Amino acid sequence: MLVRCKCCNRELRSHPVKTVTCGCPNSLTLRGEVITAVDLSEVVIVEGLSGNKKPDTISKEDMVWQENRRKRKVRKLNFDIK
Ligand SMILES: [Zn+2]
Repeated sequence: MLVRCKCCNRELRSHPVKTVTCGCPNSLTLRGEVITAVDLSEVVIVEGLSGNKKPDTISKEDMVWQENRRKRKVRKLNFDIK
């Protein structure tokens, strides 16, 4: 899942086990697949969960990830973030 904070224009990719936050006053935070923010109307889901429509600019790496996710049918995967 890829989510953009309109407040700071950062894009955050959800991580199965880690909490990711954009760090701006809107405090967009992803915990697994749970999105929290001070103002959720300032948050855009760029890329939803597998099965949802994808943006045209999806990277190869993303497609592999989505594919693995579908095959294994598990909610939580361990992978290295860059
Ligand atoms: Zn932000």
